[in-house]
Amino acid sequence: MEFHPGRMLGIVLGLVILASIFLLPFGTTNTQTLYGSAGPLISNLGGVQASGTATATFDYILVIAFVLLIIAGLVGLFPLGTGVLGIVGMAMITVAPYAVFPNGPVKLDPGTGFYVIWAASVLSLGASFWHGKRKEAVAGVNVNVSQTMTTGATSQLDVKCPKCGNMNPSGALTCSKCGSDLPKTM
Ligand SMILES: [Zn+2]
Repeated sequence: MEFHPGRMLGIVLGLVILASIFLLPFGTTNTQTLYGSAGPLISNLGGVQASGTATATFDYILVIAFVLLIIAGLVGLFPLGTGVLGIVGMAMITVAPYAVFPNGPVKLDPGTGFYVIWAASVLSLGASFWHGKRKEAVAGVNVNVSQTMTTGATSQLDVKCPKCGNMNPSGALTCSKCGSDLPKTM
């Protein structure tokens, strides 16, 4: 597997997402982390079912988004996966309050974690397009240039004097050391 810079960035962003889920406050008024909000729902899905249609729908969306974001954080090695899953998960959380409670009691009141996970997801999608191909291309050009310079340098001293053995620049008519005529090369 190739470890291009995009992959390394993806792994870092995945860890940022995971850390944010468990450590950063996800809402401003509610200081709970996303894990703090979704964890109890997961351990009590039966209670979610009984909590009324709208609330249950919202809770399910939160749980699904939470799972998507956990996976997004874990697959940082594949930045495209992290980016897509992260964005889908965050879009669900962002839209859900308005979709489920049009005039309702739940409002989106985002905290640090909300913004950090959004940013890490978008950056990760960007990182998936960063394959270091440009770097390889530059290296290829460098090889070509150095080859040209090397062959150029050797071609300048490739006429051996038949008399004394001194190497002379190609195109030289007489040997620079002994002055005897050189075989014509050009
Ligand atoms: Zn000579």
